[in-house]
Amino acid sequence: MKSIKGVLIKMRDDLIRDITRRLKETSKNINEDIGDDIDSCFQERAREFDLLLSKREKEKLRLIEEALDKFEEGTYGTCEECGGKIPKGRLKAMPFALYCVDCKEMIEKEEKSRTEEPEETLRKISLIDYEEED
Ligand SMILES: [Zn+2]
Repeated sequence: MKSIKGVLIKMRDDLIRDITRRLKETSKNINEDIGDDIDSCFQERAREFDLLLSKREKEKLRLIEEALDKFEEGTYGTCEECGGKIPKGRLKAMPFALYCVDCKEMIEKEEKSRTEEPEETLRKISLIDYEEED
């Protein structure tokens, strides 16, 4: 189990390093505009950091942190939903998995029906519009 914790820490560090690098690249351009107003520049950076994190990265970072917390609590590898053991193979493939396969599928289905359907409908509507215009 210790090696999985190591993998998690590396994943988190890689993610943060990647974001920090992107932040530096972006603030290089910002610096030219702002000049030496350090305070507002710093605030700008903090906001940038948040913006640069995609929803996916935020979610991943959150999952990694949660998994690391679970290591501290000694509950790592236990499904958050049903309390059952998460198979080792699954943890190796996805060290930040918080749920067993069954619960994860159930949760994803619920999320899909809640969030993705309206988007799908919108896409269909816009497709129909395009066809009519042609
Ligand atoms: Zn479960």
